[in-house]
Amino acid sequence: MSFLLTVLGSSSALPTSKRYPSAHVLNVHEHFFLIDCGEGTQLQLRKFKFRFSKINHIFISHLHGDHVFGLPGLISTFNLLGRKSELCIYGHMDLKQYLSCFLNQFGHDLLFNVKFIPVKANHQMIIFENNQVVIESFPLRHRIPATGFLFREKEKDRNIRKEAIGKYDIGISDIVRIKQGEDYITRDGQIIPNHTLTIPPYKGRTYAYCSDTLYHKSLAERIRNVDLLYHEATFMDKDKKLAKLTMHSTAAQAAGIAKLANAGRLLIGHFSSRYKDIDALVSEAKTIFANTDAVEDGNQYHVSQQRKKDEK
Ligand SMILES: [Zn+2]
Ligand SMILES: [Zn+2]
Repeated sequence: MSFLLTVLGSSSALPTSKRYPSAHVLNVHEHFFLIDCGEGTQLQLRKFKFRFSKINHIFISHLHGDHVFGLPGLISTFNLLGRKSELCIYGHMDLKQYLSCFLNQFGHDLLFNVKFIPVKANHQMIIFENNQVVIESFPLRHRIPATGFLFREKEKDRNIRKEAIGKYDIGISDIVRIKQGEDYITRDGQIIPNHTLTIPPYKGRTYAYCSDTLYHKSLAERIRNVDLLYHEATFMDKDKKLAKLTMHSTAAQAAGIAKLANAGRLLIGHFSSRYKDIDALVSEAKTIFANTDAVEDGNQYHVSQQRKKDEK
């Protein structure tokens, strides 16, 4: 079962020859969620071999160009490819106006419906849910309304041991109950404890996307124990005044949030093009949170499945 992040764009406002502006794709069980859509996102989707028809949900963190300028081109290409299925776009209310401008001018022959789902930038809220995943938005602090996104894989029922079914001749309706944690009572009244019949399910995996934001400790509470955390690191700590002024974070601050949140792994990106040596930003972050990597366009990050442990 996939839980795989692909980074399509990792630069900040000024793209470079190696880094496109922000865009990520998260694959949860072959459902593909596009997060931010900087200029050139459709080229990166092509380059890294994503099927356009698989993208049905797009999440926009805020309305700065490096996170949204790719949207008109992508919508246009969807149409040229003959898309019929609805496209859902999640973002702050202001995004609707931006989308309307484009759709009024270029969207007359659109073959599919574009559904806009407003996201409030001042509190945490569930914005999407299916059988596999729940997606929440949460507030960031930036120069304009901005939200992060938290993807939580749903936990499944316990797994029943195959040999137990045969041994106790367990029927289908009992199997359902046992998977939900109940003990089994045999026909002669013997109680078989659930933990001897089942093994724990896999933990639900989580991914949090935090771009762009001023450092603020309360962010860590929103994403506590997240497995994989992407946090912007536009600046180095020596430029933290500039970070504060522009409402961005430094590599050290991103690492501070990862540590406070007890994250499993930290990815940093959205680097200012002023830094030629990205290793320096990673080193800075690693002094605070060791499991840190700098993302590059095309990099993929898999979160592996781990079974829960039963309480003894
Ligand atoms: Zn940005
Ligand atoms: Zn921004």
